[in-house]
Amino acid sequence: MSSTQKLHVLFACSEAEPLAKVGGLGDVAGALPAEIMRTAGEQVDIRLIIPFHAVIKQKNPPVGLIGSFPIKTKAGQLLCDLYVTDLDGVITYLLDSDGINHNSPVYYGDASLDGRKYAQFSVALLEAMRFIDWQINILHANDWHSALAVYALKDLYQADPFFIHTKAILTVHNLPYNGFGADAAMTDLGFTPCRDPDLPDWARLTPLPLGLAAADRIVTVSPGYAEEILTPDYGCGLDGFLRLHQEKLSGIVNGIDLEKWNPETDEYIGHPYSIDRLHSKQLNKLDLQRELGLEMNPELPLFTVVSRLDFQKGIGLIFDAIPDLAHQNWQLVILGTGAKELEERARDIAAAYPHKIISIQKYDDVLSHKLYASGDIFLMPSLYEPCGLSQMIAMRYGNIPVARATGGLKNTIIDFYASPENATGFLFAEKSAEGLKNALESALNVFKNKQIWYRLQRNAMSADFSWRRSALQYLQIYQELSQNSI
Ligand code: ADP
Repeated sequence: MSSTQKLHVLFACSEAEPLAKVGGLGDVAGALPAEIMRTAGEQVDIRLIIPFHAVIKQKNPPVGLIGSFPIKTKAGQLLCDLYVTDLDGVITYLLDSDGINHNSPVYYGDASLDGRKYAQFSVALLEAMRFIDWQINILHANDWHSALAVYALKDLYQADPFFIHTKAILTVHNLPYNGFGADAAMTDLGFTPCRDPDLPDWARLTPLPLGLAAADRIVTVSPGYAEEILTPDYGCGLDGFLRLHQEKLSGIVNGIDLEKWNPETDEYIGHPYSIDRLHSKQLNKLDLQRELGLEMNPELPLFTVVSRLDFQKGIGLIFDAIPDLAHQNWQLVILGTGAKELEERARDIAAAYPHKIISIQKYDDVLSHKLYASGDIFLMPSLYEPCGLSQMIAMRYGNIPVARATGGLKNTIIDFYASPENATGFLFAEKSAEGLKNALESALNVFKNKQIWYRLQRNAMSADFSWRRSALQYLQIYQELSQNSI
């Protein structure tokens, strides 16, 4: 590639906000490619590709049909339709076919149906680039749903001149999701089991490990998580493989949408505020206390949780720790739904402390803004956390996190005891209710000292959680890979 040619990057993902969002992956694909495009200017042409999910069709965004092309299967061929739209200035391709989409949900929640959908998506997205004759320098895949596109470059297209210069990055957002159940679909598409002796046997027809094996670079969504997955505790059976290939592994922390999450301009809160107008934050707390029927007292420390009620999030530790603090004055509001057992425990504990604890079991974006804005202390005792967005949002609202020192939480929160002057929150290491209880007690004590608490809030609210930081680091990797490929 000459120096005047733009680097072609295809960013492949299963979801992208606002077209389709199920979780944090949608946030990333909705924001990162656009930020990379703005940051890189003329150097990079980055485009996005996602399946044309039913939920996108229902929204009826302006799309243009580019055309139809086939992909080969054992039974013959599968016809795919390629559409194009725009997402925040990024050319975005939508892939459709009976197999990929079939008016399906983003995820079926069924291993073999999802396996088939995303195995076909992974092959079709490469064929789509051939169809439009757009040669890619970098394929940037995300999680197991597009990991097979990375493996396809080595297994199906190794000798194909069209992909001869294509390098691949695989970003891992959540290692335990391997894409089990795709083997039948893979065989049908002509994939062969990977013979890499470094992989465990169970991984030879499993999308995520195959992507890891084939990728030129592996990125996790925080340096902390990149270290942790090298250990048996966090490595999901792939730690041995990852230790052998550490040289291609690194971590880049995600960003948050600084316009959506801005206490100065937030339309969902009654009293916008900034570092210099923190008294308005207390008015938001009074509003929330009134709305939820809690005692209206701005001096009471308000604990908040905005989370999926999932075991990964360490929600059980909260229910175990909180009764030991019941003698102290505080309030707790938990917003989240998820595992039945945890929902039940949330209901039980709210019933046991009706004047202190409220559990709201729904997904409510507006209410989440109110909780971030009115809370004093944000609980996030995750057992593991590849990156985590909620703690960054909370800090932006001066809602000080008490979190487990794991993964991205370790990289985004500066612990009070490690660096009191620069601190933005409280971290604890133990995976136990005792650890959380001690950290909460520390936070409650420091909360009493208005001056020190203000310093924590000021530090937290001025931390840089922009996507630009992540974009610059990804660009660096794109440049390194492209130099090696030419
Ligand atoms: P994960 O992606 O593992 O669920 P993150 O911390 O990365 O966790 O992102 C969680 C996102 O989902 C945050 O934006 C948070 O505000 C939002 N969220 C979680 N639960 C709820 C809920 N019940 N209502 C509204 N927003 C929620």
